[in-house]
Amino acid sequence: MGIAASPFYSPTADRSNDVGSKLTPEALARRARQRRQIQGMIGISYVVDAVILLIYAHAGTTSPVIGPAFAVCGLLSVVGYLLLSESGITERFQDHYIVVPHSIISMMIMLAFTYIAPEVGVMFLCTLFEVFAFSSLRSTPRQTAVVWTAMALGVAALFLLTDKPISLPHDSYLERFATMMVFILTIGRCMYIGIFSSAMRESLYKSGLALKEANKRIEELAELDDLTGSLNRRCIMRFLDEEIARAQRTNLPCSIALLDLDWFKRINDTYGHPTGDEVLKTFAITVFANIRNVDRFGRYGGEEFLLVLPDTSHEVAVRLLERLRSIVADLDWSAFSQGMRVTVSAGVATLKAGEAADVLLARVDGALYKAKAQGRNRTCSA
Ligand code: GH3
Ligand code: MG
Ligand code: MG
Repeated sequence: MGIAASPFYSPTADRSNDVGSKLTPEALARRARQRRQIQGMIGISYVVDAVILLIYAHAGTTSPVIGPAFAVCGLLSVVGYLLLSESGITERFQDHYIVVPHSIISMMIMLAFTYIAPEVGVMFLCTLFEVFAFSSLRSTPRQTAVVWTAMALGVAALFLLTDKPISLPHDSYLERFATMMVFILTIGRCMYIGIFSSAMRESLYKSGLALKEANKRIEELAELDDLTGSLNRRCIMRFLDEEIARAQRTNLPCSIALLDLDWFKRINDTYGHPTGDEVLKTFAITVFANIRNVDRFGRYGGEEFLLVLPDTSHEVAVRLLERLRSIVADLDWSAFSQGMRVTVSAGVATLKAGEAADVLLARVDGALYKAKAQGRNRTCSA
């Protein structure tokens, strides 16, 4: 059974504010089906235990009434829960399995039968393990603590306030067989619950990985830098690779420029980071307004931008960058703050035959470094 379809598994189990009224009819139907499945399993469990009790009765350990009585009590609890479930009442609760009351009722049945039939008490006490393992699978830590406290109080009352001789029958061959079945079934059911819990963990791990992949994909699909509206780094780098390949193929020139705002840290420090952001936006808009449609402009990082200029010779690129530089320097930045000045430095490089992107970028970076070293607010050629 796939874990997603498992009655134990609910990705939003009880920890969200996910109440029935917010769910689609399909989701409600799925949840109802899961509840039915779970109750079916619990019902079968009661019947199997009743059969073991009949074996004990056959061996003369306990009364023949105990087995059927146990099955009737258990099945009544199952039917009661199913009535609530089918009428939709359980959907009103954040935990539609109503794990706490459900587990406490099951525990009460076990403790009551240990009291009534202590000669086969070990069997009922063993079942407590299953109730507890099962309830903690679907509970929050607080719910688990509540169920555990109720169980501890009940067991304490049974052991300390009564003197019932709770036994593990093993005198005759039939008793040994029945007791063996009790242990085998208890361990088997606990194992079954454990397998589901590990499958659930694995499924969550896989969902986590899938989510990570999906996020990565979304990031890749998003091509624009949030702040400036220019292409993001991944995208401009892809364009650079494509343009280089195209230029090598067609033998047409291709130039690039690396632009870095001057003393930008000072702008942030003096006018504040939000103003710095506005300056970056205005700078990007200014560049966009002065380049061709075929040119690509992207944020390379921080206050550094890469401009890819297809079919552009070195001289034309240098002239364009010089023009951009002077437009930025001549802009009236006083709208942001009185006396504000913003300038940009740029390195320009033109692709050589057979040159790889990283080599071209290293050259343009060197040219930018030269522009900074020579006093900023200037354009330098690689
Ligand atoms: P230089 O002329 O040498 O380039 O000096 P600089 O101050 O511009 O360079 P530096 O590398 O020292 O500082 C860059 C600053 O750009 C520091 C960083 O806080 C700022 N910055 C980077 N990204 C953003 C951003 O998205 N918004 C704002 N407001 N500031 C940013
Ligand atoms: Mg800078
Ligand atoms: Mg920089």
